[in-house]
Amino acid sequence: MTVALVTGITGQDGTFLRQRLLREGVEVHGMVRPGDGLARDLSSAHPEVVLHEVDLSDGPALRGLICEVDPDEVYHLAGVSSVGFSWQEPVLTGLLSGLAAAEIFAAAWQLQEQRGRAVRVVQASSAEIFGQPRVSPQDEQTEIRPVSPYGAAKAYAHHMAHVYRGRGLHVAACILFNHESPLRPPSFVTRKITQAAARIARDGRGELVLGNLDARRDWGWAPDYVDAIVRAARHVVADDFVVATGRTHSVEDFVAAAFSRAGIDDWSAHVSTDPAFVRPVDATEQVGDAAKAHRELGWSPTVDFRTMVARMVDHDRQLLEGEA
Ligand code: GDP
Repeated sequence: MTVALVTGITGQDGTFLRQRLLREGVEVHGMVRPGDGLARDLSSAHPEVVLHEVDLSDGPALRGLICEVDPDEVYHLAGVSSVGFSWQEPVLTGLLSGLAAAEIFAAAWQLQEQRGRAVRVVQASSAEIFGQPRVSPQDEQTEIRPVSPYGAAKAYAHHMAHVYRGRGLHVAACILFNHESPLRPPSFVTRKITQAAARIARDGRGELVLGNLDARRDWGWAPDYVDAIVRAARHVVADDFVVATGRTHSVEDFVAAAFSRAGIDDWSAHVSTDPAFVRPVDATEQVGDAAKAHRELGWSPTVDFRTMVARMVDHDRQLLEGEA
């Protein structure tokens, strides 16, 4: 039986990955932050998932965990997930989204040496490593020049994936562009918008305050991205893969699509902007070229922008109906 260790198992991607691996009959171990309330819910709903409380900043504990679990596959998803937050906590972001990955690669490499069998690792890399890209679309060869603490931490981890790949570890780096679902927390702009659209549609009034409406992102459907991660882990060679839809939309496009789905024609009456939500530096446009993932992993996105927005808005409307 395949044994998988998932860091960040209570997050959006960790949840979809856990569901997928359990369906496949994989023995799933999840690393959770000590005191994580979501871990308690997960362990009562899915006692078959073995949870391990380890702090990502605790190197010896991370190494001990990898030895103890003895995994065939390691999916490293944990870290600071919000670019906005990384500006408030740049050092913590470096620790959790950068250095911890190096600890995991080193421990996986050591385990592989000891037991003589591959440990397949996936690093959840990010489009933020490209910062303000000078080429469009971005692919695996695009220059790495981050412009946020989050991007810099992820860039370090991305480079370390290459370092350990050079040393013989099967470590794939999936350069994930934005990927959303109803499980996204409202600290991300997509869920903030869909929650607001649902609330304003119900109440007939209300306001949504945002930052930069012109920023353009390549937004995809999170379960598709988890599928790419699993394909990358099991691919014959460890490599870098951009995972993206190849289409870009502005924050304003997202607002218009979400409000329209909620039945509100004039979104502009409800939306204002506040510099408090504008980042010190923000990529103007991100759009990925996933041709390599398509060619080598047989991966393609299955959900388009409008369908993704509709699913998120419908979910938030249902949640509000449930409350009522
Ligand atoms: P990110 O691309 O990983 O940082 O994902 P986010 O969903 O946090 O942000 C996507 C884009 O939306 C960025 O360009 C943000 O600057 C922009 N944005 C505009 N208003 C907001 C807001 O109120 N909250 C967030 N999180 N992002 C916003």
